[in-house]
Amino acid sequence: MAGTSVMAGGSNLRARQAAEHPHSVGRLPDRARFLGDIDVFIGDPQRVDGQIAVVVIDAATPNQHDELTRTLGPDAADLFDEAAAAAIGACLPTNARLYSLSAARFGVLQVDTADRIETFLNKLAYGIRGWEPIGPTMPAATSVGIGVACYPHHGGDVAELLQAAIAGARSSLESGKPWCPYSPVVDRASHRAAHLLRDIGPALAGQEQLHLVYQPKTDLSTGRCIGAEALLRWDHPTLGSIPPGDFVPLVERTTLVHAMTNWTLQSALSQVARWRAAGLDPLISINVSMRDVGDDRFVARLAELLERHAVQPGWINIEVTESALMKDPVRVGRHLDEVRRLGVGIEIDDYGTGQSGLSYLKYIPATFVKIDQLFVSQLASDRNDQIIVRSTIDLVHDLGCQVVAEGIRDGDSLAWLREHGCDIGQGNAISPPLDPASFEQFVAGTSAA
Ligand code: C2E
Ligand code: MG
Ligand code: MG
Repeated sequence: MAGTSVMAGGSNLRARQAAEHPHSVGRLPDRARFLGDIDVFIGDPQRVDGQIAVVVIDAATPNQHDELTRTLGPDAADLFDEAAAAAIGACLPTNARLYSLSAARFGVLQVDTADRIETFLNKLAYGIRGWEPIGPTMPAATSVGIGVACYPHHGGDVAELLQAAIAGARSSLESGKPWCPYSPVVDRASHRAAHLLRDIGPALAGQEQLHLVYQPKTDLSTGRCIGAEALLRWDHPTLGSIPPGDFVPLVERTTLVHAMTNWTLQSALSQVARWRAAGLDPLISINVSMRDVGDDRFVARLAELLERHAVQPGWINIEVTESALMKDPVRVGRHLDEVRRLGVGIEIDDYGTGQSGLSYLKYIPATFVKIDQLFVSQLASDRNDQIIVRSTIDLVHDLGCQVVAEGIRDGDSLAWLREHGCDIGQGNAISPPLDPASFEQFVAGTSAA
């Protein structure tokens, strides 16, 4: 199958493929049939031995398939599915039946001994490994995942078996393994993820479960607190406290990301307005997800929220990660220019951990660069970290920005940073994240010092 063109031609090619290939998608039995057939096997009183193996083959990740549809059009995506079906069909034994479950997703049923099922999966994985749907103008970047779930070990009914095999295919796609059996450990993680994603929507609609804490940032030359980073906390009604590292990346993969950024902006801006009214002047940094920076409505939304809360743009910074800049540099760069023109400061978060080169620093109108805690947390004792941080401080200063070091965990690292000209520090050695009242006390303490 290697080199099969899925882009060349249109409906003619599709019609020809349908006629020539018994595994043409249009002719394959569908998902309902697959579920029905599994049910028949499970209930078959004649079946004496052998396992029922439900196999799911993903010829591309959902993102890859969407990208294909978006860039090359729905015809190309259909042709991709045709080519995938033909490639998989060519690897199956003659008695095996292929099913089309959904876009780029296929199913196979096998009833056999565990050994023979394993051999079958190895052959299938090996057979389609070299499959590359390359078109005349553009290669379709896709990856294949194969998952398997066996009755009765991995599920007692058809729905459970299919879900378990899909979870296996996802693991195979994510891990790069040729095929993956259903794994309860992986499944527990994805169940938890599904649970969190289901519950974050209602949490974002209210004020009871989510709140912000503020981690102080101090001017290292004077020790004075200049502001704080706003960090999201979620007290889940049954699961307890959920760290942002567990839910923010999940939400960022969905359209709920806009609701999350809105929630954070609204909550932080109303707090900033309260502090300003009370005579405090902290500069508050707000994390904004990469998906939002790329959204064409983002700058207008930000301007509207600033106005609604009567917050001056210079009272806040937004923190964006390098990955946001890399995804769509031109669009993101344009939006960040507009954010700067509003008067809002821009901090590059987690600096040094992305896969980007240094060149983007030239294009992004950053006002602050935050060196990631990866280089900061062992700073007092790690000579390589010292070299990296020292040259980053020079580079960032030469570009006219201020340097923030985050994740400072001990007094020696703090002293080292102060000595080497780092402008601003943040980390547990200065203060952990605080609720608003404790932050006010902290500010009062550093102003008096
Ligand atoms: P981040 O933006 O890089 O935030 C810094 C993280 O480092 C925070 O973790 C902070 O509590 C932690 N930290 C700071 N100093 C120390 C230290 O000395 N020791 C240790 N062990 N940790 C330290 P947190 O609050 O768990 O947040 C993790 C990440 O979640 C954040 O990384 C950010 O990427 C994301 N996040 C948090 N709140 C929001 C939000 O409102 N919106 C978005 N989009 N992302 C958020
Ligand atoms: Mg941050
Ligand atoms: Mg960070």
